[in-house]
Amino acid sequence: MGSVKQTLMPTYQRLSVGFVRGDGVWLWDEVGNRYLDALSGIAVAGLGHAHPEVAAAIADQAQTLLHTSNIYRIPLQEQLGGRLCDLAGMERVFFCNSGAEANEAAIKIARRYGHQQGVALPTIIVADNAFHGRTMATLTATGNRKAHAGFEPLVAGFIRVPYDDLEAVRQVASNDSNVVAVLVEPVQGEGGIIIPDPGYLGGLREICDEHQWLLMLDEIQTGMGRTGEWFACQLSGSRPDVMTLAKALGNGVPIGACLARGRAAEVLVPGTHGSTFGGNHLACRAALAVIDVLSQQALPQRAAELGASILKGLGESVGEHPRVRAIRGAGLMLGIELDLPCADLVSLALDQGLLINVTAGNVVRLLPPLIYEQEHVNLLIERLAVAVEEFGSRQ
Ligand SMILES: *Cc1c(COP(=O)(O)O)cnc(C)c1O
Repeated sequence: MGSVKQTLMPTYQRLSVGFVRGDGVWLWDEVGNRYLDALSGIAVAGLGHAHPEVAAAIADQAQTLLHTSNIYRIPLQEQLGGRLCDLAGMERVFFCNSGAEANEAAIKIARRYGHQQGVALPTIIVADNAFHGRTMATLTATGNRKAHAGFEPLVAGFIRVPYDDLEAVRQVASNDSNVVAVLVEPVQGEGGIIIPDPGYLGGLREICDEHQWLLMLDEIQTGMGRTGEWFACQLSGSRPDVMTLAKALGNGVPIGACLARGRAAEVLVPGTHGSTFGGNHLACRAALAVIDVLSQQALPQRAAELGASILKGLGESVGEHPRVRAIRGAGLMLGIELDLPCADLVSLALDQGLLINVTAGNVVRLLPPLIYEQEHVNLLIERLAVAVEEFGSRQ
């Protein structure tokens, strides 16, 4: 064990627990303890663990064909592209293997779109507190100075504005003629479950239309039903020009997607972008199974109902706790903001057999699987309340 650990670059401050098996909303560790999952591997396992239909699809595909190459047609990729475009109201898809790669594709689309418009130094507006990934360009787009530190020089061509601030975007519009796109999350995830004003995305849509900028939405964490619609932008009825997906798309099989419509859909042509693994047979088969289950069981709608129930329960159980400053949520993307750093809550919850996360220092983040039943909601609230009490009593 020890020697295994030392061979891994310590990019994560890992908890000592390691899981060996999952079933639905439950995970088991090496010594047989059972944990209620309220994190879904950070919004990935939306259908829970070892989902029978997804597992069967993966197993069948593994025995049929895993990989050929994007130099050939991939029928499953065409099918998946069709399903995603129908669901999202988009026209074309580029498949890749992660969220960062999906955003890289979006950034490349914006740059090339800009050059096509005669903009010499195409610039993308991004938000404070944003998270878009860890590759150099997506790291630059990420609005967290700690994540940038030590990796300078960052990539050129980004302007940062406060999140949920339309006036700041308008101001950039009047000062900078190189802007070609806006890239934001519909709800900031890593940033602390920050839910913007209901008019924010619509306002961005208007500004982008006015200036012929691309509205690019990072739905990597919010997408695939989590917020109560298939995609969070549908909550406010504003359709982007570019949308990125990953996380829950394959329920754990790595797959990312960059969707586009209109002029943005025509930008990438042969030779301009590519991926060896992107959209291979296995990943696409898994994602098709995920979409089937989500739609057959109306899980986006279920996420909205479950989210409302959890929000209400949390309000009753910890809403009056002296350290709790705010409780907020969009479907099954929920945050409990405390008035002090609360990373310790993760291990206190673990002691209760509950998996949660703390982000932005002082926000408990809950991203439960969409297959919760009411009994799981009750258990989550019970266990979390115990952990919060314990945390509070130690301060
Ligand atoms: C997780 C995440 C990413 C990065 O995805 P990776 O698969 O880790 O590269 C980008 N944007 C958002 C909003 C995310 O939540």
